[in-house]
Amino acid sequence: AKRALWNTRQLTPASHRIWASTLVVSEPLVDGATPAATLSTATAAQKLGNETVDLLVVGETAPTHIPAGITKVYHVPLSNRLSETVANAIETVVKTKDCNIVVGTSTKFGSTVIPRVAAQLDVSPVTDILEIEAPNTFIRPMYAGNVLGKVVSKEAEKKVLSVRPTSFEKAELVDCTAVETVDGVAAFDKAEWVGESVSKSDRPDLGSATIVVSGGRGIKSGENFPILEALADKLGAAVGASRAAVDAGFCPNDWQVGQTGKVVAPDLYIAAGISGAIQHLSGMKDSKVIVAINTDPEAPIFQVADYGLNQDLFTAVPELTEKL
Ligand code: FAD
Repeated sequence: AKRALWNTRQLTPASHRIWASTLVVSEPLVDGATPAATLSTATAAQKLGNETVDLLVVGETAPTHIPAGITKVYHVPLSNRLSETVANAIETVVKTKDCNIVVGTSTKFGSTVIPRVAAQLDVSPVTDILEIEAPNTFIRPMYAGNVLGKVVSKEAEKKVLSVRPTSFEKAELVDCTAVETVDGVAAFDKAEWVGESVSKSDRPDLGSATIVVSGGRGIKSGENFPILEALADKLGAAVGASRAAVDAGFCPNDWQVGQTGKVVAPDLYIAAGISGAIQHLSGMKDSKVIVAINTDPEAPIFQVADYGLNQDLFTAVPELTEKL
């Protein structure tokens, strides 16, 4: 029946349709609030040409705090957070609430949900958008960030997009005063959401920290990582790493920055013992100030660094920590 309704809408002339709203898909709430990445997505959503921007939250509880500028908040009260279920929730809201643009965030969560819902809606998605030139014209990275492509979406009826959160300012977080509950969403029943185990840290979250101190293979062993952690603690920074450091078992997986890790754009990024491979750069080169500490003067990281220190990190980092 839902599919029939959708087909009917597709056959309705554009002039007779009210397609006015952009739907922002919230990342899972943190302490009842939409997280930082969704605040950036909400800013991007305002640039997509629609009069109103709505928010969709899938999860047990409705949000207490949401991005400023949201017209309606739709809450799908399901604890099953599998991407299939979230995609079903988006599809239901798009088909029943007259939203013609869906915009998510190019995080791990968004990257599992957005292509899935695009397939369900039979739309070609545009993902990982860095810039919105016009409501249908987007700049996005290709080939691990080696080139920037300009993509014009020819989807006239509806668009499904994801944006890179570090490329857009965060909207203000405001109180959520009204929520519309959306029932009747089918939870995916071929797998079960058992739970999640979130690593706890006293340090800021790597994805949204304003300062990041990262170590690479040059740190030589996991036992040496505390040298970088001491500097991070002095600066109130998050700790990151290259994939070589993660693969060597020097530090946890979720510290990885880069193409297959986290994309960060802090005010200050300190890379110690990292060569600057393209896959690492694609995850940090939008940082406002980059400091590189490396013994090899030819290391590619110096090409993107604002400040380069051609020195042994085992001397430079402790000295820096002490002087701070
Ligand atoms: P190396 O390239 O070995 O560099 C170590 C550096 O430390 C050298 O420049 C050296 O001069 C310096 N050094 C050594 N000793 C010292 C010292 N005492 N003091 C100061 N400097 C010192 N990589 C990522 O980081 N993130 C990703 O997400 C990622 N995704 C990938 C995806 C794919 C599909 C592929 C193929 C690769 C990916 N990589 C990724 C791996 C990437 O290509 C590099 O291999 C990796 O980034 C190298 O890590 P590194 O700079 O720590 O190590």
